[in-house]
Amino acid sequence: MYHYVRDGARVHARTVGDFERELDHVAARYSPVRLDDVVRGGWPDDACLLTFDDGLAEHLGTVAPALETRGLSGVFCPPGEAVAERRPLDVQKTQFLLAATDDHEALGDGILERVEDPERIWADNTPPHRFDPPETVFVKRALQDGLPDEQRRAILDALFREHVTEDERAFADELYLTVAQCRELVARGHEVIGHGWRHRRLGLLDEPAQRDELERTRGFVELVGGTWALCYPYGSRDATTLALLRGLGCAAALTTDPRRATRDDPLLELPRIDTNDLQLEVVELARVDGPVAESP
Ligand SMILES: [Zn+2]
Repeated sequence: MYHYVRDGARVHARTVGDFERELDHVAARYSPVRLDDVVRGGWPDDACLLTFDDGLAEHLGTVAPALETRGLSGVFCPPGEAVAERRPLDVQKTQFLLAATDDHEALGDGILERVEDPERIWADNTPPHRFDPPETVFVKRALQDGLPDEQRRAILDALFREHVTEDERAFADELYLTVAQCRELVARGHEVIGHGWRHRRLGLLDEPAQRDELERTRGFVELVGGTWALCYPYGSRDATTLALLRGLGCAAALTTDPRRATRDDPLLELPRIDTNDLQLEVVELARVDGPVAESP
């Protein structure tokens, strides 16, 4: 699982050089497969499937050429609304907000001064985290799903305007692939699958809201000529999600459960290893069995 692949990023990214070293390693040590192969069950023990989340512009500009020169292909997972309607996702707005300033305590104060019950909101949104300090955890959690939705979006929008940009459309145009570019990825032999419409945590939504997200996601995949499979935003799903996906004829779905896939894994709950959790030195020394900690 990759997200950003870019140099000089303040967001958590693989640099282009590190990415290319990883691809060389994968091409030399593993048997790269396509999602189609996984669905058909025909994959070897050393199979490797490369996936790229969030429909970022560099997936066409940087990632696809690097894959193609090595004879590899990728599974690209663009969120529908961001690509089709040029609107930044809350997850990226939060990432760029956190990257815009080192003073996450001040950002947290900006949230707390806008809520009714700051002590409870702080306590509810600061679980222990393996590498982020509580100020950072708080901003991420509160702005992802720790507040009532309307209030959460209003606060995020205000902080984003204040610290990142007032021009959301230009921000989206710079950050995301277009519909035509998603089609181009398909035409160049890559697989494009769904990643939600608004990139919501499906496991937190009721049945009608999940159905709406998934039907719109399937419509987006059809629009770009992709493969009807899903990459769960944040890995989030529940029994309702799985039942809906079966009803909608979804071929496979990717989670963020951080381990290697086996043939016993159900196709609708395939685990993935986040490359941000891998140390390059370790990658170069040996095949990895996956990180032990939870994926962000
Ligand atoms: Zn995502």
